[in-house]
Amino acid sequence: MKKLIINANVFNGVDDKLIENVSVLIEDNLITKIGVIDASEVDVVIDAKGGTVMPGLMDAHVHITLSASFNELDTMTREEVAIRSARISDDMLMRGFTTVRDVGGNSQGLKASIDKGYANGPRILPSMAALSQTCGHSDYRQNQAQERLRDGHEDSPMMKLGAMQVADGRSEVLRAVREQLFMGASQIKIMAGGGASSTFDPLDTLQYTLDEMKAAVEAASDYGTYVAAHIHTAPAMRRAAEAGVMSFEHATIMEDDIAQTIKEKGIWVIPSYFTSSLIAERKIPLPNEETYRKTERVGKAMFKSAELIKKYDIQNLAFGTDCIGDTRVHDTQLNELTAIENTFDTITALRMATSNCGRLFEMSTYQHPYQEGKLGQIVEGAYADLLIIDGNPLEGVESVVNTETQKVIMKDGKVYKNTL
Ligand SMILES: [Zn+2]
Repeated sequence: MKKLIINANVFNGVDDKLIENVSVLIEDNLITKIGVIDASEVDVVIDAKGGTVMPGLMDAHVHITLSASFNELDTMTREEVAIRSARISDDMLMRGFTTVRDVGGNSQGLKASIDKGYANGPRILPSMAALSQTCGHSDYRQNQAQERLRDGHEDSPMMKLGAMQVADGRSEVLRAVREQLFMGASQIKIMAGGGASSTFDPLDTLQYTLDEMKAAVEAASDYGTYVAAHIHTAPAMRRAAEAGVMSFEHATIMEDDIAQTIKEKGIWVIPSYFTSSLIAERKIPLPNEETYRKTERVGKAMFKSAELIKKYDIQNLAFGTDCIGDTRVHDTQLNELTAIENTFDTITALRMATSNCGRLFEMSTYQHPYQEGKLGQIVEGAYADLLIIDGNPLEGVESVVNTETQKVIMKDGKVYKNTL
């Protein structure tokens, strides 16, 4: 099947100038040519009417299967969680997201259902369960009664659902990482310091010894992939950088030395500016007062770190919303583009949500589930994951954030929306 998009300008995901007045040829699920192309032998012609073809959006930090507040998840059956997650992934595709990295959640089944056409949604690179030490940010047991410590995780919906897992010591960490790889993880997520939404780990706690973190990195890199760490404070970032962790989620409370290390080692930073402002204003439901107090601190610190990102010219930045919870939270996903544009500039926001995510995801090498084409760029040989925007995104992300001006959504060569 050949589709041809005519009368288009192209934002290729990288350059700060459009490629003007070209056609884009799509054969099956790949982009095969960009330029002047004869329309006579194609099956379908899509007239972009002067609109901009750009890569489908990508989000490097979501939790699709954590589809309710933690307390509500505890009252839901697995079927209910699955059905909600399918709705959330469908909505995500319909707001222009064609690939996401799920960094904590049992999302392999959803991914497989989407890939096989049983559900609609973005491509998913799952991390499966996020790993932490006992009493760490993945230890979501809400009850400290001692007799409950040894008999499973029955009071933690997050752990029952396979979104979180506890592993202590080198051998347990090696096993837990390998279990996630066995279940289809594209990359490994660990908790390398205190978290805001969990109850028993103050933000300033250090989690996982250097040796435990190195064990996670070793087991991941033996499978060609890398470790992404939930991380807020500078001491935790120093340890994780030494262990070889390559993706810092949040990276909230930076200091000069660690910003410099991040730059030198090429570590990726995935900040979340919109969610940070939401949690700072207590707009996301959390289990108790202590978690609200912690999130407020995190929400406020995120914007100070943006200044260090600029000062040290950190370019390995990817778009990540940390969308977690019900549809009301996920519905805000596009707001992060505007938040990044306000914090940095338009081209940084657009690159972070397209080609930068594509580069980050390539670090999964042979654990990368989508190896047929490039992701996050409009180039020959890339997957036909694209949007047609009425307007020029380089003049401001508003035309991308507004779903009315997102005229066409195509993923894997298939058109999911066309209002041209
Ligand atoms: Zn998260």
